[in-house]
Amino acid sequence: MKIKFLGATGTVTGSKYLISTKQSKILVDCGLYQGYKNLRVRNWQKFPFDVSTIDAVVLTHAHLDHSGMIPVLYKYGYQGPIYCTDATYELCKLLLPDSGHIQEEEAKFRNKHKLSKHSPALPLYDLATAQESLKLFVPINYQQELQIKDLTIRLNNAGHILGAASVKISHQQKSIIVSGDVGRPNELIMPAPQVLEPCDCLLIESTYGDRLHEKDDSNEKLATIINKTIKNGGSILIPSFAVGRAQTIMFLLSELIKSKKIPKLPIFLDSPMAINASDIYCRFNKEHRLNEQQCKEMGALVEYTREVEESKALANITFPHIIISASGMATGGRVLHHLKRFLPDSRNAVVLVGYQAGGTRGRKLINGDKVIKIFGQDVKAKANIEEIDTLSAHADYNELIEWLKNSENLHPKQIFIVHGEPDAADEFRLHLQQQLGWIATVPDYLSEYTV
Ligand SMILES: [Zn+2]
Repeated sequence: MKIKFLGATGTVTGSKYLISTKQSKILVDCGLYQGYKNLRVRNWQKFPFDVSTIDAVVLTHAHLDHSGMIPVLYKYGYQGPIYCTDATYELCKLLLPDSGHIQEEEAKFRNKHKLSKHSPALPLYDLATAQESLKLFVPINYQQELQIKDLTIRLNNAGHILGAASVKISHQQKSIIVSGDVGRPNELIMPAPQVLEPCDCLLIESTYGDRLHEKDDSNEKLATIINKTIKNGGSILIPSFAVGRAQTIMFLLSELIKSKKIPKLPIFLDSPMAINASDIYCRFNKEHRLNEQQCKEMGALVEYTREVEESKALANITFPHIIISASGMATGGRVLHHLKRFLPDSRNAVVLVGYQAGGTRGRKLINGDKVIKIFGQDVKAKANIEEIDTLSAHADYNELIEWLKNSENLHPKQIFIVHGEPDAADEFRLHLQQQLGWIATVPDYLSEYTV
């Protein structure tokens, strides 16, 4: 087998791996590049392969940095199957059309305010294309063996978010495992990632390859921030991934209110997608730690604002409140309108609760930038910026290494470190060497290896 790295090299976005034999070609993940402009331009370039030669696509999970280029693949003529778990399919039904919609809106905005060098600015894909591409999805079960010509595919639960999987690809006597995004052993909602089976070649993510999650309790930290902000007469904005993180935050807030650690204040979930994703989480309650009752409680606590007018009306609220809104790295979506309003007021708090990729507004805020560009305007960042990284859906390097150690008879001869920014990937390489004696490679963009 050959493997070619078409994304998530030196970055956490754009996941795409082309795996081929003489007979077959599959693409594992088809993710969007986000963050730095020099990466985002790749979304607009031709795919570095002939689309008509791909036999199948396999998705590890629904996050856009793993699935968000599917509509482009479809636009270029791909008509084959897209295999993923049932929950991933359900979540993609939300995420992909929404992504198309956001891109249409952004293009419209750029044209209206003449913010683009291109005339007219076009969306990468529109809602209709995203919607159409969904017909190619074929849901499969975890552990189900799937034959694609001379390749056998199997999905393993990877924790992380609902439906997330590691992918094992076998051909004759050889096998490759793509870890996908790996969850944590004690995440609030998601189960621990399943241990890996033996394989010859392993692609392992390294989002937190150079970091350990803080030991402190996210409950306590969030309660302290909320109480302090209320005392100051401010409000709290939580930019959040709509899928996974938003549900964890809602659950955490419901626990804090139940235990009276914070007062019962109005909480708004201002993301139609997060609202729909919460419904899907409740429907798939066999696949995570929350039972039906807990799902109900979580929903009852929060006011959903689906309509744009309702979202705009949140600007008129004068008393302390919490808004959870997407996107999680403040790269787009409704959260931008709230950020523009929240940031200049020093009484407010903006709480970042997930990984913030380099180049995103979220990362700039954490870095302490005092001016943030939103819709082409400079916005002063005077609000209290807080980061709670214990709520991450990614294992840190110790958790990853424990997971690998617990995977019996796992001695891959080839190890590739992907899905990490350069420092994280390289430091994780050293951790693997020191703690497991494994010699790993950090592959370059477009590099190809034989397994
Ligand atoms: Zn993910």
